[in-house]
Amino acid sequence: MEAKHDVLIVGAGCAGMRAAIEAFDAGADVALVSKIHPVRSHSGAAEGGINAALGNASEDDPEKHAYDTVKGSDYLGDQEAIQILCDEAPGDVYQLENWGAVFSRTEDGRIAQRPFGAAGEPRTAYAADITGHVLIQVLYEQVMKRDILVYEEYFAWRLVVDSDRCQGVICWDLLDGGLKVLGAKTVILATGGAGRLYTGTTNAYSCTGDGMAMALRVGAPLKDMEMMQFHPTTLSPSGVLITEGTRGEGAYLLNSEGERFLTRYAPNAMELASRDVISRAEQTEIDEGRGIDGNVMLDLRHLGAEKILERLHGTRELSMVFAGVDPIYEPIPVRPGAHYHMGGVHTDVWGRTPLEGLYAAGEVACVSVHGANRLGGNALMETITFGKRSGRHAAEWALANTTVAVPPSLLSDAESELKELLDRTKGERPWSIRDELASTMHENFGVFRREDQMEKQGEIVQALRDRYKRVVVEDKGDVFNTDLTQALELGFLLDLAECMIVSGLARKESRGAHARPYDYPERDDERFMRHTVVTMTDGAVKLGWRPVTVTKWQPEVRRY
Ligand SMILES: Cc1cc2nc3c(=O)[nH]c(=O)nc-3n(C[C@H](O)[C@H](O)[C@H](O)COP(=O)(O)OP(=O)(O)OC[C@H]3O[C@@H](n4cnc5c(N)ncnc54)[C@H](O)[C@@H]3O)c2cc1C
Repeated sequence: MEAKHDVLIVGAGCAGMRAAIEAFDAGADVALVSKIHPVRSHSGAAEGGINAALGNASEDDPEKHAYDTVKGSDYLGDQEAIQILCDEAPGDVYQLENWGAVFSRTEDGRIAQRPFGAAGEPRTAYAADITGHVLIQVLYEQVMKRDILVYEEYFAWRLVVDSDRCQGVICWDLLDGGLKVLGAKTVILATGGAGRLYTGTTNAYSCTGDGMAMALRVGAPLKDMEMMQFHPTTLSPSGVLITEGTRGEGAYLLNSEGERFLTRYAPNAMELASRDVISRAEQTEIDEGRGIDGNVMLDLRHLGAEKILERLHGTRELSMVFAGVDPIYEPIPVRPGAHYHMGGVHTDVWGRTPLEGLYAAGEVACVSVHGANRLGGNALMETITFGKRSGRHAAEWALANTTVAVPPSLLSDAESELKELLDRTKGERPWSIRDELASTMHENFGVFRREDQMEKQGEIVQALRDRYKRVVVEDKGDVFNTDLTQALELGFLLDLAECMIVSGLARKESRGAHARPYDYPERDDERFMRHTVVTMTDGAVKLGWRPVTVTKWQPEVRRY
């Protein structure tokens, strides 16, 4: 065994670093593992902001935040977890500010807050449109200040489970090659999302759902995997995100006839309806021939150059670089793109999974605060609040339990499997399977879902899994073998795609991101106000259900 720690955190984005800081401050020996440098984690791409009921722009309180989140989740969010998020959010945001996060300001010097989709009050605190970048730098400073060990460029591949307890991680050392075993009393997964399951996505190449698949493979359950959020404003054709902050500042969505089509779908909230509602509206406009080259238009022109330059300068730059459009003068072509996985590793409100010693926080986890539809600004908040909580609990548990055992056979098994993969000289390259997976997921498991398409996608994924057994890695070297890690990531993605399809077929209703307008157009609270849960045994995915925790908000019809 290379090393032993009290708390080992896989992933160094906002969730992972926040967990590390908390666990360290609780007295634990902590280390972080990351396949890329921490500040390159995808949290850094977050633009629009982070939600907390600070009440700086209006009368607001955590109760209103919680209600908006429950309603936004289409009543699939667990209300106990949502209440915790909303109650702890203001303190957690001030903590970030005290660590040096430079939030945008009101004229009297308080943290400014902007309106965001489906929020009853302007509650999204922001640092212009580079909020994630600011937070990740601040958290990394705190990690460095504490001198927390970071295994940088280590690719976590397998969880170590012995005596029904998670006791470490087996990693591929990207810099020098070879498998390394890191033992730990507790492991926190903070590996982010899996947007790379789709062709058109806002997610980076690193977002391949590794932690979800690693947990699944050791028997931990995944929850609500069918719930992939499509963001309504992703740039065509790259998928780069155009923040909801643009609509928060007043941008319009137009169809090919120049109509603000949301008058027909969400007449009250208009461009600030929830993401699922707007994505469906856009897709309907495009499918019915009122799009322009498969897009609708996001118009910022009436905001004026001054506001665009001051509050949305990053958006302008992205539009100019990736679409050749200057939003001061022209509308931006946008369409729905895969953005955020509401589903993930099932945890309780302390980030604990049912497997002792294993925790999860951030986008990899499903606690669940987002249910069937996440509100913009709530994901960053979740990384901070639940990163903190999982770090605290993992540290307390680790300090009360002493041993770590990693049976040598686990490493030798992993080495043989990897050798078999690297020794293979004939077969198919990973990229062709990966591209086919992503394009077919987009086609058959997108904004709208049909039974026959989901079934077809199940068969496609099965065939891709068979092809994956013969995948060949051409690079046989030790140093930065991304050919190898991409092959391993593809294995993770294939497992997750299957979980999504099994869950999607079972949910015979329309709720949040799971829209089945052709066969089950309505939400069915009686039968389906519950979470899907999948586990994997001997490679086969098994479906189960869990109740939703309701504390005070009974389901209502959502009107925006
Ligand atoms: C473009 C974009 C904009 C967004 N804007 C907002 C916003 O304004 N507000 C908001 O609330 N939310 C926003 N979100 C969502 C939010 O940013 C993310 O959900 C959140 O930042 C995820 O953080 P995380 O810490 O869970 O994961 P990440 O930041 O993705 O970090 C994952 C970490 O895990 C590591 N990792 C992954 N796999 C492995 C492995 N096998 N081995 C070792 N390390 C591994 C990575 O190296 C990385 O360090 C946005 C998302 C996107 C894509």
